[in-house]
Amino acid sequence: MNKKQVIEMTEQYYMPVFGRYDIVLSHGEGPYVYDNEGKKYLDFLAGIAVNLLGHAHPKLVAAIAQQAGKIIHCSNIYYTEVQAMLVKKLAAVSGLDRVFLANSGAEANEGAIKLARKYAKTLNWNKVEIISAQHCFHGRTLATLTATAQPKYQEGLSPLPGGFKYVNYNDIEALKAAVSEKTCAILLEPIQGEGGVNMPDADYLKQVRTLCDEAGVVLILDEIQTGMGRTGTMFAYEQYGIVPDIVTIAKGLGGGVPIGAFLASNKVAAAFHHGDHGSTFGGNPLACAAANAVLTEIEDEGLLANAQQTGEYLRHALVKLQAKYPGIITEVRGKGLMLGAQLSMEGRDIVNSCLEAGIIINCTAGNVLRFVPPLIIKPVHVDEMIAVIDQVLAKIKVAV
Ligand SMILES: *Cc1c(COP(=O)(O)O)cnc(C)c1O
Repeated sequence: MNKKQVIEMTEQYYMPVFGRYDIVLSHGEGPYVYDNEGKKYLDFLAGIAVNLLGHAHPKLVAAIAQQAGKIIHCSNIYYTEVQAMLVKKLAAVSGLDRVFLANSGAEANEGAIKLARKYAKTLNWNKVEIISAQHCFHGRTLATLTATAQPKYQEGLSPLPGGFKYVNYNDIEALKAAVSEKTCAILLEPIQGEGGVNMPDADYLKQVRTLCDEAGVVLILDEIQTGMGRTGTMFAYEQYGIVPDIVTIAKGLGGGVPIGAFLASNKVAAAFHHGDHGSTFGGNPLACAAANAVLTEIEDEGLLANAQQTGEYLRHALVKLQAKYPGIITEVRGKGLMLGAQLSMEGRDIVNSCLEAGIIINCTAGNVLRFVPPLIIKPVHVDEMIAVIDQVLAKIKVAV
């Protein structure tokens, strides 16, 4: 099929929920993807922080192919070696004890909310409220979109599940004021992704941890975007000197194969008993094989160190762009290979111009350029991308 046919067929039959670019992607290699007309793009979005190893990584491809040749799926009423290996590794890298494997980020958060509610009820039957932050993003299921404090995701969907409350992000006093004997859990992203790469103050999460300990509240960190090495450590919370009671991951975990997880301490996980949660596909052998390959590659190839070093290189390059175009870029923020450039204008045209020039970047929250490339990215790729943005911004500067 040619490009036009693919687009028309999709638009006729797919539910009209996505605003898509007129690009039909076909295949990729490393940090590059190609459309079905052969045009090459440097991918600084990585499926929105998903393709940690880039595209068509030989070891990931081999792990998936090998597993597919053995057993793709079996029910969780049986055991598999790949699943045993994955949950052991996840516990080891997180500092937590217990794992549940799901299929997506929203599902991981949904399960985390269920576990937190079950656990809190063992303390006090009234502890049901989940507090989350303005501008957060936790997913599209009914509970997670209710936790997502953004009206645009909730419109027309009432009645929403009860027991959700919002406070300003990075405002410890607001959080203290919101916590009561009814509070079950606080649910936060260590760095807000969709909301605009919003960073907390250095001591915010530590203060949240203390507040949770004092008030008997479960701390759930949503590391679906920040986790799996994205910020230069396996989990962002390591850099803030805390461990949550529950952490959720997904996006990068399977390197593109759908898998999510929530992990918890023994104390909290003990609230789950046989039959309390489940999933047909969650943790199936194919997804587990992919996640094992991703974790092995992060370790063997030093991808955490690369996320720190190449992340620093990218940050530096963005700061230089800010100095060159102070009227367009007003702030550079983020950690590791999760960086944002705050714009003084809408970012849509910049993203489109970059796409035309063969660079995939993303704009979130309307005016924040977001960079979440594969963790295999090198300075040479940063240079290639920055040169294009530089040209694009130069044209805007002339225009204004
Ligand atoms: C993407 C994302 C989710 C939702 O993940 P899905 O796999 O799309 O359900 C939840 N939380 C955060 C922080 C995310 O970035």
